Amino acid sequence: TATTTKAAAQAAPAAAPVAVRSSRGKRLSLVVPMHNEAPVFDALFERLEATVGKLRIDLEIVCVDDGSRDNTLDLLRAKAKADKRIRAVALSRNFGKEAALTAGLEAATGDMVVPLDADLQDPPELIAEFVALWEQGYDVVYGVRSDRTSDTVLKRTTANLFYRVFNMLSDYPIPASTGDFRLMDRRVVEALMRLPERNRFMKGLFAWVGFRQVGVPYVRPARMAGETAWGYRKLMRFAVDGLTAFTTLPLRIWTLVGIGSAVLAVITGLGLIVRVLVVGRDVPGYASLMVVLLFGFALQMIALGVMGEYLGRMYQEVKGRPTYLVKDRIGFDS
Ligand code: UDP
Ligand code: MG
Repeated sequence: TATTTKAAAQAAPAAAPVAVRSSRGKRLSLVVPMHNEAPVFDALFERLEATVGKLRIDLEIVCVDDGSRDNTLDLLRAKAKADKRIRAVALSRNFGKEAALTAGLEAATGDMVVPLDADLQDPPELIAEFVALWEQGYDVVYGVRSDRTSDTVLKRTTANLFYRVFNMLSDYPIPASTGDFRLMDRRVVEALMRLPERNRFMKGLFAWVGFRQVGVPYVRPARMAGETAWGYRKLMRFAVDGLTAFTTLPLRIWTLVGIGSAVLAVITGLGLIVRVLVVGRDVPGYASLMVVLLFGFALQMIALGVMGEYLGRMYQEVKGRPTYLVKDRIGFDS
């Protein structure tokens, strides 16, 4: 066998996979945020049983009930009672996916932690591959959607635009088409928990912490059953933004005013130039004065608006409200 391994090693590419650590005796935690997921509940656990349940590793499933209005929490109670591997954290109301995920990550005890959508859009079959890459020394193994045809054209275009703009502006680029579906080493989870911010934009935080990361392409299926909170959620976020940040809106609005004035200034300026060229000048100096005045005014407004953006966020953080509140913890005593 020595010769065959040698031959295999020679045939393999330069960076041949080498296991540097073993998952033997380690614990894997799945973190599943759930908001009104009763329609997919049974299918989810069946699928998990058939995939990660088969892995030779200690398993823990931390479900976070994010203020469901259906019977998700009752189902979870029953499930946790019947199966010691299943634990649940019930939040006191709907805090949104990012907060639910944070609650789950903080409750998880595993050496490896995998956040997973309840609707089976993150195929649990992939987790075996994630674990294998973890064994090769990667601290973060993230799923990359190789094909987004299960999304509408609109969602795809806006998502692409978002990644492009974000990566242009941010020092910590997010790999495109990457969601929360990933395997993280304990160290990475600890690092995430040390970030104190309330505005938990997970994708950004994941990128910020660094560590050895690798992507695994996969095809993301459509939602199994139930309803996406998306269109709804976007509106919700919009409303919550407007209400909680009640006092930041008057600050932020100046950005729009500033941009509007800048556009107006440019149009007015062009109009005046054309007028001078066609009709001739009336009062000397008027046109240039007007352009400078309007444009300067617009710039000040934009600057004020940008400061408002930051001030509003500082206000949110300074209030220091917790990211989420727990109503109930189920199955953690064992
Ligand atoms: N989710 C949550 N709280 C919310 C909205 C969603 O915990 O307020 C959960 C949801 O149960 C699911 C995951 O976040 O497990 C992804 O949500 P969804 O499938 O609705 O989003 P999409 O896949 O359409 O982006
Ligand atoms: Mg989904």
